[in-house]
Amino acid sequence: MPGRNALFIPGPTNMPAAVRRAMDVPLEDMRALDFPELTLGLFKDLKKIFKTETGQVFMFPGSGTGGWEAAITNTLSPGDKVLAARFGQFSHLWVDLCQRHGLEVEVVDVEWGEGVPVDIFGERLAADSEHQIKAILVCQNETATGVTSDVAAVRRAMDGAGHPAMLYVDGVSSIASIDFRMDEWGVDLAVSGSQKGFMLPTGLAIVAASQKALAAYDSARCPRCFFDFGDMMRTNKDGYFPYTPATTLMHGLRASIDLLLEEGLENVFARHHRLAEGVRRAVDAWGLSLCAKEPKWYSDTVSAICVPEGFNGNEVAKLAYLRYNLSLGLGLSKVAGKVFRIGHLGDLNDLMLLTAIAGAEMTMRDIGISVDLGSGVAAAQEYYRQTARPVDMPLAVAASM
Ligand SMILES: *Cc1c(COP(=O)(O)O)cnc(C)c1O
Repeated sequence: MPGRNALFIPGPTNMPAAVRRAMDVPLEDMRALDFPELTLGLFKDLKKIFKTETGQVFMFPGSGTGGWEAAITNTLSPGDKVLAARFGQFSHLWVDLCQRHGLEVEVVDVEWGEGVPVDIFGERLAADSEHQIKAILVCQNETATGVTSDVAAVRRAMDGAGHPAMLYVDGVSSIASIDFRMDEWGVDLAVSGSQKGFMLPTGLAIVAASQKALAAYDSARCPRCFFDFGDMMRTNKDGYFPYTPATTLMHGLRASIDLLLEEGLENVFARHHRLAEGVRRAVDAWGLSLCAKEPKWYSDTVSAICVPEGFNGNEVAKLAYLRYNLSLGLGLSKVAGKVFRIGHLGDLNDLMLLTAIAGAEMTMRDIGISVDLGSGVAAAQEYYRQTARPVDMPLAVAASM
């Protein structure tokens, strides 16, 4: 098909040209004398993205799932109890990973479309007077349902209960796109991957650990080898790795971090919020609703949009791809067929989002869902226009507007 694929899944995301160019380099010796010039700067600047001064960042070859495994196996032992809520495919998979590593997971099942039940967590922690719970798992942004949870509130609940458990955050579809503050929120393990907010190909699991998490490493008995923090730390301190690192991706990561810091993290977050809000205005204009049940849970990186009764969201995504070369996210697991998703994270702007909204609108009409052509697009256009940043331009041009 001529023209470009419009990529609006919540990862992999669109890759900026500068990132792609940065990776167009020869392969290199990862033991070269000057290799640390690249890697030490990455470790330093990733801390800015995670907003940690005291934590330590790790880069493993892998994906977000590997990051989960690294976080768990380096800091816990089989039989350890962890508290987690399950409200979407990703929070479900993290629980599953913990169970397969022999952890005892106290699962709080929550309706899909809601987020972390902070009050229930608070009660469970208060009831755990013997401090059996070693870790609390929070999926900050549940990508399957488009739900963002309040990590700071979980930290307050932990402190309120005076509970010493560690706080683990899945930030795969949130870190580098929406607000995340490792030190301020007292996060002990933060997990991310390269192909979402970092706008890179899949291939890096990026994990940050607090000093408390690193102290837990010594007594943690989960089997680990590839993801061992200790092996990493022994070599990372000099800018090297215990095995062959993903050198090409690291050049891309350099460019990606430069773009993020140049735009400014707060501006990146504000951009994601605006783009998401435009999508939400469109959904409203279509007369449809989000899977996320309440505004406090609306995600600024992905919207899961409920299709009306009698229609299949996966058919929308399928036809959008076949007919318009538009990639939308499918509904996963429990919400398969009930929703389709628009990913709005990474290297995106207003007009790109209008493409996704227009394509979704056309496809829904094709399928027989009664939405007015142009309705969602117009709602988003109006919102983007009204909230567009002011631009300096020559007076003569401005006067003629
Ligand atoms: C994508 C994603 C993952 C899994 O990451 P992979 O890179 O696919 O292994 C985990 N958690 C969340 C919230 C995600 O969005």
